[in-house]
Amino acid sequence: MPCYRCGARQTDPVRGASPWKRGVRHEAQVLVCPDCQRAQDLDLDTCPTCASTALICRLGEVECRSCGLVRLAQAPSPGSPDLSGLAAEVEAALNRVLGRK
Ligand SMILES: [Zn+2]
Ligand SMILES: [Zn+2]
Repeated sequence: MPCYRCGARQTDPVRGASPWKRGVRHEAQVLVCPDCQRAQDLDLDTCPTCASTALICRLGEVECRSCGLVRLAQAPSPGSPDLSGLAAEVEAALNRVLGRK
């Protein structure tokens, strides 16, 4: 995964922890390269409890690595408006069949 901000590719770390930083932006996991970590306008999502940007996004959840808070990711999955419209249609059809109003 490249840096979300400048598009730089992550080089293999020689040894130990990568200097790249993981974060969540607009409910999606992103990587930030060491250069861009110094920028003031990173626009990363922050934890509502401790304001940390050390967040992990996975399986529709966002976990804070600082305080451990887990919340649901808020972005709807692609196509969900269509699905909800379909569900409404199915429900209306069921209501007709069952004689509900
Ligand atoms: Zn960068
Ligand atoms: Zn937190």
